[in-house]
Amino acid sequence: MLDYKKMSATDIREAIATRKVTAVEIVQESIRLAKTEGKELNAFVTICEDKALTQAKVVDDKVKSGAPIGSLAGVPIALKDNISYTDYLCSCGSHILDKYVPPYDATLVTRLLSADAVIIGKTNMDEFAMGSSNENSYYGPVKNPRFPDRVPGGSSGGSAASVAQGIVPLAFGSETGGSVRQPASFCGVYGMKPSYGGISRYGLVAFASSTDQISPIARNVADLATVFKVTCGRDPRDSTSVAFDHPDYPNRLERKEKFTIGIPREYFAEGLDPEVNAVVQKCISELKKAGHSFIDISLPMTDKGVAVYYIVAPAEASANLARFDGVKYGLRKSGDKELADMYGDTRASGFGAEVKRRIMLGTYVLSSGYYDAYYIKASKVRELMRCEFEEVFRAVDLIISPTAPTPAFRIGEKIDDPLAMYLSDAYTIPASLAGIPAISIPYGSASDGRPIGVQFTAGGFNELALFQVAKMMEQ
Ligand code: GLN
Repeated sequence: MLDYKKMSATDIREAIATRKVTAVEIVQESIRLAKTEGKELNAFVTICEDKALTQAKVVDDKVKSGAPIGSLAGVPIALKDNISYTDYLCSCGSHILDKYVPPYDATLVTRLLSADAVIIGKTNMDEFAMGSSNENSYYGPVKNPRFPDRVPGGSSGGSAASVAQGIVPLAFGSETGGSVRQPASFCGVYGMKPSYGGISRYGLVAFASSTDQISPIARNVADLATVFKVTCGRDPRDSTSVAFDHPDYPNRLERKEKFTIGIPREYFAEGLDPEVNAVVQKCISELKKAGHSFIDISLPMTDKGVAVYYIVAPAEASANLARFDGVKYGLRKSGDKELADMYGDTRASGFGAEVKRRIMLGTYVLSSGYYDAYYIKASKVRELMRCEFEEVFRAVDLIISPTAPTPAFRIGEKIDDPLAMYLSDAYTIPASLAGIPAISIPYGSASDGRPIGVQFTAGGFNELALFQVAKMMEQ
């Protein structure tokens, strides 16, 4: 048998196409790993065995009959448990949805399946994608694959862990403020948040609709570029998806021209772990040696990012989560009492502590008398942040920074200190608020071996530059 864990998505497709292995064998191995090592990590909420094997058989039949196969034929993929996949639980890591089974597929799923990919499972996550450590899941925390007493990052911790562990070569998470880049950094894999509107959100359970983006995770750049190419683009079912003429990413990874890269001084200030800084500095000097030029830039609004995000995101969340009231979806408590009691009891027992905190924060900043002081003000600062980036991208192609201020922290270390937890999003939040793409590249490690990611941010819909710089670093 081929060494499945080491195979990229491209290797898998090639091995299936040339009949060195069948798609069924590949998928069985992925499912076996999900049930053993994935269980040990607590990375999966559901394993989609029945449909996965059926999809794999379809791929094998196509190969046998000489029919054309898609660009992800037979490739096992995991999806965060907030992405709808017909007939399988979509819990969002929450008790309130722990019996909710969506009757339709997300557009992401439709596109993956039409490229002949195989969805093998739904991954564990912070409840409703609120968190940076995966400790907010109703199903318990996910472990960091290489440091089991540490967090994998969050909220897409199960997706990042399952890719890092080799259970799947590709997974999807969702990003609202760093939930793919930060776990990618903590687990030593690639994670890319597309421009807002890059991938359809149809079928993604909403957290903060103005920044939510489905985002891919991979172990190499070519796979990341391939899966983004398959899933990006306009979708009539998501009015915020953008009709952009996406380049042929996987075939344009090599770049001849040199980059001009900005180093934002605000990202290298207080709170940055020296070992993380050292990895970013090493990356800068390697790129300099290769002939790329660097300029010092300033993004003065950076330190407002966390404050703005923790007003805007909870505000939107409080509205989005209003629909979980025991009437239409999932859990219902005290159905025989008054309507208002039923709403209250359902939400009190269905939501976890962090989700309740966000709903209260969000309701507060939207309430009459506080709306202008908090929500409107934060929205204005957000617009200034966006303009600041726009200005900087007139002079540079990319911005380099750390992905997260520290490597993976210990399970339990920050769970009782929400502010410390929120600050771990400081470097990922700005791109989310501005709607621009950013990638975390596994580049170095701390002295104890914990992975450290370097983040590159680009102007709107310049994902190509992110893939190209990632390719250079990979080589
Ligand atoms: N950690 C951030 C939060 O808790 C970001 C989450 C996300 O990107 N979904 O909101």
